[in-house]
Amino acid sequence: MDKKKVLITGAAGFLGSHLCDRFIKDGYKVIGMDNLITGNLANIEHLFSNEDFEFYHHDVSNYVYVPGNLDYILHFASPASPIDYLKIPIQTLKVGSLGTHNLLGLAKNKGARMLIASTSEVYGDPLIHPQVEEYWGNVNPVGPRGVYDEAKRFQEAITMAYHRYHGVETRIVRIFNTYGPRMRLNDGRVLPAFIGQALRGEDLTVFGDGTQTRSFCYVDDLIEGIMRLLMSDYAEPVNIGNSDELTIGEFAEEIIKLTGTDQKVIYKELPTDDPTRRRPDTTLAKKILDWEPKVSREEGLKITYEYFKGLSEEELYKKDHNTFEKYIVK
Ligand code: UDP
Repeated sequence: MDKKKVLITGAAGFLGSHLCDRFIKDGYKVIGMDNLITGNLANIEHLFSNEDFEFYHHDVSNYVYVPGNLDYILHFASPASPIDYLKIPIQTLKVGSLGTHNLLGLAKNKGARMLIASTSEVYGDPLIHPQVEEYWGNVNPVGPRGVYDEAKRFQEAITMAYHRYHGVETRIVRIFNTYGPRMRLNDGRVLPAFIGQALRGEDLTVFGDGTQTRSFCYVDDLIEGIMRLLMSDYAEPVNIGNSDELTIGEFAEEIIKLTGTDQKVIYKELPTDDPTRRRPDTTLAKKILDWEPKVSREEGLKITYEYFKGLSEEELYKKDHNTFEKYIVK
């Protein structure tokens, strides 16, 4: 029997690359697509020799062409850290809106099932806690995070419209803070920021007074949840994340212990619209997917720390944002 074929956008990114690995392992043909603005080919280099893997260097905000049949599309292309949205706001808006539209068109043409990567950011700075799927959110459309939040809200809306009006099979995962190997060390997110600081012998920068909370999910758990959702028949949004909530101040202390650094915590200004509390209610995922996270923070952080420790000096001190240049053959 012919292998099923899946298109993964954002394939060179943190989550996209883990998805590529998972689909290859499960016996699919995988087309990875990425414009490499925030992605890094090093994340998928090991797949290039695999005959079931192909890579297209393409920006999905432009028309997307893929020859032949396609069974699944997973849309994971997007800048995904608050620093990225500030640097590339227009691309962030375009990939969530125009990119999603192009891919839904492709899904409709190919009769493919499409899963989109939505986010806990659709809840904004939430007024209810923990966040359930029925909550409509508290988002500032014109703040610095608005470009991401509103693109993702539009993405959910157009996905439901294609589902309802064109009968496209769609799935929506709302991803909460996720961590693991292949996160970009310099993307500004709290975990790579803290671990990078510890490795460079710098103080750990806690934003605000450190009382804001997050709940961190290990990447393997997230990927398992996504696979289960994709294979389910549920078209409404589903939260996937870990509900083990802690303050950012407590998290800094955990990283200090994990890394054994003798640096201290310093406090910096809280970014605009930084959500005060965030924890997923994952009752729905448990009920319809029989999914719950398995990896404890202690275990997941150990693996992630080992990954960051293995990076080169150059990576550790690199401040640049775009990883594309080094792959251009001169
Ligand atoms: N944060 C911090 N120090 C840093 C980077 C982030 O205290 O060096 C805080 C940030 O203000 C936020 C939390 O850590 O409250 C998580 O930030 P991140 O950028 O990882 O993602 P977010 O959950 O805000 O999308």
